[in-house]
Amino acid sequence: MTQQDTTAGPSIPGQDPRFARLRIVLVGTTHPGNIGSTARAMKTMGLARLMLVAPKASIDTEAEAMASGATDVLRSAQIVESLDAALAGCHWVVGASARLRDAPHELLTVRQAAGQAARELTQAGREVALVFGREHAGLTNAELGRCHAHMVIPANPGYSSLNLAQAVQVTAYELRQALLEDEGILPAVELPAPAPHDAVENLLAHWQAVLEGLGFLDPANPRHLMQKLRHLLQRARVTPNEVDILRGMLTAVQRHTHRQD
Ligand code: SAH
Repeated sequence: MTQQDTTAGPSIPGQDPRFARLRIVLVGTTHPGNIGSTARAMKTMGLARLMLVAPKASIDTEAEAMASGATDVLRSAQIVESLDAALAGCHWVVGASARLRDAPHELLTVRQAAGQAARELTQAGREVALVFGREHAGLTNAELGRCHAHMVIPANPGYSSLNLAQAVQVTAYELRQALLEDEGILPAVELPAPAPHDAVENLLAHWQAVLEGLGFLDPANPRHLMQKLRHLLQRARVTPNEVDILRGMLTAVQRHTHRQD
C-alpha cells in the first residue's frame, strides 16, 4: 500500500487498458473486511486500481482474509487524505448512493452509469472514478457535489442499502459487461477530452477569489454559489482550452481591478 501515490495501481497481466483507467474510490471506510472484500470484488471483474480516502480501517489480517486471492489489489491500494486528491486527473466521476438527494445531479442506474463509464473509457486517455461512501453514513452532499453523476443500484425500495463491497461488486460486474459489449465499437471521431477534476477545481478557486474581490460573493454568506457554478461546469464538460479561456478572463478582471485600486 502506498501513501499519496498518484501512479496507477497494479496492472493485471494482459489487461485491457480501459480497465486500468478506472479507479474505485472508497471514502472513510470503517471495516477492514469491506476493504478486503472490495479488492476481491474488483479483481474478479478485472479491476485493479483501488483508492482509499481517509480510511478509518487499517489493512489488517481481516482485510487480507476477505481479499483472498486479491491481496495484490489490496496491497497496492493508494491512501489519500481527500476526495479531491483521489479524483485528480479524472474526466468523469460517479458517486454511488442508495439515497436519492435533491441535488441537481444527473441520476443514473448502475447499468446506465456503467454504459457511460465504458463510453468514456473507450476514448483514449480518459480517466473515470466510481466513488463509494461510508458504511454508516454514505457520502456527504459535498462529496456527491464533486461528482458528475449520481448512481443508484435499483434495489428493494423497502431495504435498498447494500453492503459496501457488494455495491462495488454489482457495479464492477455491470462495468465489465458494458466494456466487453463495447469492444470494437470505437467511436470514429475522438471528442476533445473534458478538463480533469483538478483543473476544474483550480478554475473554481480562481473564480471564487475574483467574485469575492468584486464583492459579488460574500465569504460570510456564500449561498452555495460555488457549488452551483461547479454543477454548471460539470454539465458543460468544459475542455482544458475552455478552462484556459475562462481563467484568462478572470486574470484580465483581476488586472483591471488592480489598476483601478
Ligand atoms: N447508511 C448509508 C449506506 C451506506 S452503504 C447511507 O444511508 O447512505 C455504503 C456505500 O455503498 C454507500 O455509500 C454507496 O456508495 C454504496 N451503496 C449501497 N447501496 C447502494 C445502492 N442501492 N445504490 C448505490 N450505492 C449503494
